[in-house]
Amino acid sequence: MKSRNVSEVYRKDMHSKRSDPYLDDKQHPEPTICTQCGIIYHKGMWWDDFDRQQLPKDKELYRVVCPACRRIMDKNPAGYLYVTDSEFVRGHEKEIEHLISNEAVQAKSEHPLQRIMTWEKLSPKWEITTTSDHLAVRLGKALNSAFKGDFEIKFADDQKLTRVYWERKS
Ligand SMILES: [Zn+2]
Repeated sequence: MKSRNVSEVYRKDMHSKRSDPYLDDKQHPEPTICTQCGIIYHKGMWWDDFDRQQLPKDKELYRVVCPACRRIMDKNPAGYLYVTDSEFVRGHEKEIEHLISNEAVQAKSEHPLQRIMTWEKLSPKWEITTTSDHLAVRLGKALNSAFKGDFEIKFADDQKLTRVYWERKS
């Protein structure tokens, strides 16, 4: 597996016409709450841990299921991160898990729709699914910058789906 200039590949893709069917173009009325995870839509974006005191008191909250929760309910990931099981991975399992978890917490606080959906430590590859292709890329980049190794991004041409592969053998 060859390393690539990820930011370059990704930037190019961001300009492509692929769109995410879970992200509606239409804006939600405000304020809106997700009935599943409780995030709030306000001022044109979703907020995690939003202080509801800041919302106008006279307005009722609209209720929807947010795009991330809809993907989770549909079991339909936007991103896959694969971590190849290896001697290195087995020797650094806790650190790798810790890094992925921390990065995911950070990502969700910045972008509430970016979440890990499932995490299965399979052999020959761990499979981690995400509600956002950006998150799969972010996790792969974090692994690569912390532990080196090789990593590769593959975009599906016809749909909003990204697969990120990271491995380090020894
Ligand atoms: Zn939600």
